[in-house]
Amino acid sequence: MTDAEFVAILRLSDDVSKLYAADRIEALAAALADVVHQFGYEAVQDGQPAITTGGLSALEGAFEALGWADPYVIPNPIWCDAPVEPRCPNRTTSGTPTPEGYKRFCQDHFHLWQAAQDAPS
Ligand SMILES: [Zn+2]
Repeated sequence: MTDAEFVAILRLSDDVSKLYAADRIEALAAALADVVHQFGYEAVQDGQPAITTGGLSALEGAFEALGWADPYVIPNPIWCDAPVEPRCPNRTTSGTPTPEGYKRFCQDHFHLWQAAQDAPS
């Protein structure tokens, strides 16, 4: 192996390490955002659905790591799938498989759906 080949291999190894680290950081940030969405508190900021730490230090640390303001306005909120008219204006808080497919419901509609499933037919 020539010196030039050795240097080229070292540079390639360094590039691969950087790509791997970037992928890991991106995966960690996505996982942390999922945790915050699941355990953060619903809020409204300027009429937009948002999420807040509620003053919990673990969530405050997560928001800081993500670079999010508190409250954080959710860029693409997922709305409740309840089959009601007019459409339910609430953001989804849970998802569940149903006979009609996977549905995402707000807290109120999830409890109504669950009660209907538990009711004797
Ligand atoms: Zn709803």
